[in-house]
Amino acid sequence: MEDYPATFARHSNTVIYARLSKDRRKLSENVNIQIAECQGFAADESWPVVGIFKDNDISASKYSTKPRDDYNRMVAIIKRGGVHNILITEMPRLYRRLEELLDLIRLAESTDLRRIQTTEGISYNLSTSEGIHAAIDAVNNAMREVARISTRIKRKVKARAKDGQWHGGGRPYGYEEGGIIVRESEAEVIRECAKRFVAGESIRDIVRDLNGRGVPTATGKEWRIENLQRTIMKKRYIGVREYEGQDYPAAWPAILKTEQWEQMEARRLSRASRWPKSPHKGRKYLLTGFIYCGNCGTAMVGSGRSPEGDRPGYLRYRCRYMDNHGRVIGCGKVFRNAAPLELLVSEAVWHVFDNPKTAITLAPKVDEDRVRAAVEEYERRKAKLDQLVTDYATDVLTKDQFVLAKGVAESKVFDARSALAALQDDNALARVPADQTISEAWETAGLDWRRSVTRLVVERVTVQPAGAGGFHDWRGYRFNPDLIQIKWKV
Ligand SMILES: [Zn+2]
Repeated sequence: MEDYPATFARHSNTVIYARLSKDRRKLSENVNIQIAECQGFAADESWPVVGIFKDNDISASKYSTKPRDDYNRMVAIIKRGGVHNILITEMPRLYRRLEELLDLIRLAESTDLRRIQTTEGISYNLSTSEGIHAAIDAVNNAMREVARISTRIKRKVKARAKDGQWHGGGRPYGYEEGGIIVRESEAEVIRECAKRFVAGESIRDIVRDLNGRGVPTATGKEWRIENLQRTIMKKRYIGVREYEGQDYPAAWPAILKTEQWEQMEARRLSRASRWPKSPHKGRKYLLTGFIYCGNCGTAMVGSGRSPEGDRPGYLRYRCRYMDNHGRVIGCGKVFRNAAPLELLVSEAVWHVFDNPKTAITLAPKVDEDRVRAAVEEYERRKAKLDQLVTDYATDVLTKDQFVLAKGVAESKVFDARSALAALQDDNALARVPADQTISEAWETAGLDWRRSVTRLVVERVTVQPAGAGGFHDWRGYRFNPDLIQIKWKV
């Protein structure tokens, strides 16, 4: 940064921005050459240069999300005020994406910034709609240009994509090296995971189970939540080759059905399963939320400790006398060992599910057309929201109209998502995998799934005070099953 008197010329304080872009023509690749060009231009115009910013070695791809450190520093300087011009050699130096230009146009509304100038002699006046239009056109053209320049490489890739061929890279899970021949042992895992996920199990529980069984990833490692998430949602498993947002029929066989992918996507979009946030790390109780004290009617909570090393765990449910704020909420007199209590309720739940009569009422009523329609509705509304941003950028909408329309569009997106979530909760959350009995599924499925299955049939569990009922032995526990009441939903 060099010192110039701020009064040297009015409204012409200039920052120079240079960027190395690999994908472009070889011309002026060197940022120092770009800067020298800009400095020469500024000197000719007698514009004081108040800052020089350069980002090196950053991909020009519009998909790149790498931070541009100096770009951000430049924006910060502009926000402080007193900067009127951004000087660049050509438009693509400044922008990779339209959204970034929009940010700058907004900046021009609230700061001293007025102009983007290229050393090619083109000036974009950001305080007029003509100037804003021209700048947007320039960015659009630049993006097209970038696409055109790299066509030679891309054409090859795309040709392969259109043939449905694989683009190369590491071995995709479920397929042999080369990505074409199914590796049946892994395909089986994909099918299992998809089925379990659609049935309502959390990705976290599935990951824990796979790692517990010693089922490794394609590279022989343990699964992680994000990793499994990304893997099972790949469209390659429904025989789709994705390329730049387009789907092409793949040259390899599918492992999953398209409906399965749609159900997973719907579940992924539903509120109940927004992964992998809120991991409920501490949750270890089956019945919290629907277990109540028989003495005072208060909801009971889990308390106790997990097993650690040699020390055995001791989990129990209890009626709390006071809440965390010191308010009296219950009698505090009833508590029960969790292990026999959960066993009792679980067995009762299995019994309900194994009864063929109940099985009919509980049979999954997934209306796939409705799920598909809900997904489409969600995507349609999302696209509409995106369109609004473009309309605003191209002056189709005023700022006020934009803000208003955006609020409406956003709430519609929210509604669509909620509708999806409701469908998911009604239909899919508590499905029992078709090829397992419920007690088998109980063994492998995680706590979240067991909770949702239990909740599907159990209204509430009431625990009566033990009192002076004498000693009871039940399955080796000191526990009286007669003091537990289960109220069923069905
Ligand atoms: Zn109580």
